[in-house]
Amino acid sequence: MTIKEIFDTMEYGPAPESAAEALAWLVDQGSRFGHFINGEFTAPGDGFDSKNPATGEVLATLTQATQADVDTAVEAARKAQGDWAALGGPGRAKYLYAIARLLQKHSRLFAVLETLDNGKPIRESRDIDIPLAQRHFYYHAGMAQLMESELPEAEALGVCGQIIPWNFPLLMLAWKIAPAIAMGNTVVLKPAEYTSLTALLFADICRQAGLPKGVVNVVTGDGAAGEMITAADVDKIAFTGSTSVGRKIREATAGSGKALTLELGGKSPYIVFDDADIDSAIEGLVDAIWFNQGQVCCAGSRLLVQEGIAERFHTKLKARMDGLRIGNPLDKCIDVGAVVDPVQLNTISEMVAANQAGEMHQAQVEMPEGGCFYPPTLIEGLTPADPLMQEEIFGPVLVSCTFRTPSEAVELANNTRYGLAATLWTENVNLALDMAPKLVAGVVWVNGTNMFDAAAGFGGVRESGFGREGGWEGLAAYTRPKSKPNPLARVEPFEGNGAPANPLDRTAKMYVGGKQARPDSGYSKAVYGKSGALLGHAGLANRKDVRNAVEAAAGAKGWSKTTGHLRAQILYYIGENLSARAEEFSARIDAMTGKKSGAAEVEAAIQRLFSAAAWADKYDGQVHGVPIRGVALAMKEPVGVISALCADEAPLLGLVSAMAPAIAMGNRVVLAASEPFPLAATDFYQVLETSDVPAGVVNILTGSHAELAKPLSSHLNVDAVWSFSSTDLSAQIEAASAGNLKRTWVNNGTATDWTQDHTKRFLQEATEIKNIWVPYGE
Ligand code: NDP
Repeated sequence: MTIKEIFDTMEYGPAPESAAEALAWLVDQGSRFGHFINGEFTAPGDGFDSKNPATGEVLATLTQATQADVDTAVEAARKAQGDWAALGGPGRAKYLYAIARLLQKHSRLFAVLETLDNGKPIRESRDIDIPLAQRHFYYHAGMAQLMESELPEAEALGVCGQIIPWNFPLLMLAWKIAPAIAMGNTVVLKPAEYTSLTALLFADICRQAGLPKGVVNVVTGDGAAGEMITAADVDKIAFTGSTSVGRKIREATAGSGKALTLELGGKSPYIVFDDADIDSAIEGLVDAIWFNQGQVCCAGSRLLVQEGIAERFHTKLKARMDGLRIGNPLDKCIDVGAVVDPVQLNTISEMVAANQAGEMHQAQVEMPEGGCFYPPTLIEGLTPADPLMQEEIFGPVLVSCTFRTPSEAVELANNTRYGLAATLWTENVNLALDMAPKLVAGVVWVNGTNMFDAAAGFGGVRESGFGREGGWEGLAAYTRPKSKPNPLARVEPFEGNGAPANPLDRTAKMYVGGKQARPDSGYSKAVYGKSGALLGHAGLANRKDVRNAVEAAAGAKGWSKTTGHLRAQILYYIGENLSARAEEFSARIDAMTGKKSGAAEVEAAIQRLFSAAAWADKYDGQVHGVPIRGVALAMKEPVGVISALCADEAPLLGLVSAMAPAIAMGNRVVLAASEPFPLAATDFYQVLETSDVPAGVVNILTGSHAELAKPLSSHLNVDAVWSFSSTDLSAQIEAASAGNLKRTWVNNGTATDWTQDHTKRFLQEATEIKNIWVPYGE
């Protein structure tokens, strides 16, 4: 073809990248790999083939990890951890920096190997995956450098088990390993069975960087190896993958005390308003759903387009689809490469074949012979309940429907069990910034899509998991406070002395939806003082009371939209009103606990209310300095409905310490009062009643924590469960929370020193960070 002809046709000729270096590297390694444990590759054992999905050719044979392999890797990591942490932040920073430099130096080898193993276009591995992986190591070298000065109270968790998927093999490795080792942890990482090769090349890079032995360990294998890591003696599991496996891991780690972060699936909306720059929105959509063949957890796989432009938009979109180039992923001109494996290709094909709804358009393009290729596909005219509008396809398949108004767009966008990402296209900045907070997602992109950076945390809400990777927010997932908690002994109620009851004694009601409520069971329990004197009765809540309280809390949504200033005013008012009744509360606490600490407890509770009030309008978000022409706004949003099993030993202070920061941030709460000493909580709602707290924002139940834990933690309208109970319910709560993957914060049988002000920690647990990316410029 002559240059003139090329200009006339505008056709691309092939521009293949050579695979020679990467294939030679594999041959140099004998095309067989063991694991990387304690700084060395083990001898290859029984295993499986790693194939190029574009051709089916075997690239190398990998070893399936046995229990003994996993144990050895965890032991090596454990042995190395103390010295690695003791090296100090600046000492560790040097290694992270060296790794970043080596990744940069070998970036072409990594990109080609990734493309060979995964099937993604070289353009993407070369320009996105590998540079972002480098950026993560550079960024976290900085975090290691700053750890001692900026996070003086934080220390490493210990050994982290890390399990990653096949869609961004090296990038997911970087997201996991860089923050972990920066903070002084050591790791055992398992790449996905289909795509382990760049993890093994990375292991070699660690060796070249002189990383101390045992700091990074890589074991290969299938899901069974993942299960072994989950069950191993590690301090944290960091998982990225499907929601179903995430749920299993939540259940398997329940009560183990292991920290957990889950980055799971999504069905992210891509919303186009009628004033959008349509051509840009279509190019964005190409990136949203055909980037990496749609095998992206945050893929914009659900197109919501405003009715007035829908026809024009779909027509242009189809024309653009027909111009996509599908084929050899090593060809630099290719837009869409191969799906990772025949199994995934089959899943995609079956899901699409099972759909009868809507109208399907598949790109009218020349498809390659053989290999795992699937044509870019659009299914338009679906209704929100159609399975393909709800289920993650994880392939190059876009589904679409239309909307009329912005509020309808919000309803449709949030009509999913997931909450990972959302994309908005509009030229109206007012509309964009009004929509972004309303979308239930961890990340919102405005007039752009799939923008990532190490400085901006990434992660989801709802069944897209919990925890953030990247940014300051991501570090919390790899550190814990230096102070070591004491064990918490069960706090037992006092027995009665058998004296005849006062016929005028009162049975305290509970507090639901701004009203005093009798327990559904109709039963109550006597509360005695230390001498055995009857102090009163408190209701025994059951699951129906939980249902009513959660319904009331869920209905009080308006609270989340109020200003920090208003919430502060109300918290100050609660503090003032409590202060006016301090003596009475103090006497009540002393009578219940048999101690003389009531006055101090009331004073501390007032202080907690004032602290939370002070923070209500000051716990600000951030603006992340991401390397685009634009900003990433890290907004702190309320988690939603939080239920808490309050401390038994500090009947007023424990409840107030949990309630005040939660409502300061705009959450609504369902609180289970101290089980042995519930009467301070039932007196306290009288204070709430006189302090302008809107109905449903605070709901207080009394009764058995063991009875209430399950319905609270399995309720689908509860977004987070906290437990400070002296009944050890941590395992039960974490297991029951797996249903909707709600966040949990449980004490694992350890005590909290309530005399200390932990408001900052509570604020962190009471908020989710949403990163809103807003590019600017003409
Ligand atoms: P999985 O969730 O099954 O796999 C993710 C990782 O977990 C892999 O390393 C896998 O090992 C490992 N694993 C599998 N089972 C277990 C287990 N019981 N305990 C511990 N680890 C386990 O995802 P798949 O890769 O199979 O993909 C299936 C679907 O998951 C996709 O169609 C997609 O919907 C979704 N997915 C979502 C991703 C995301 O980023 N959110 C990424 C990848 C997939 P191995 O692969 O070796 O079996």
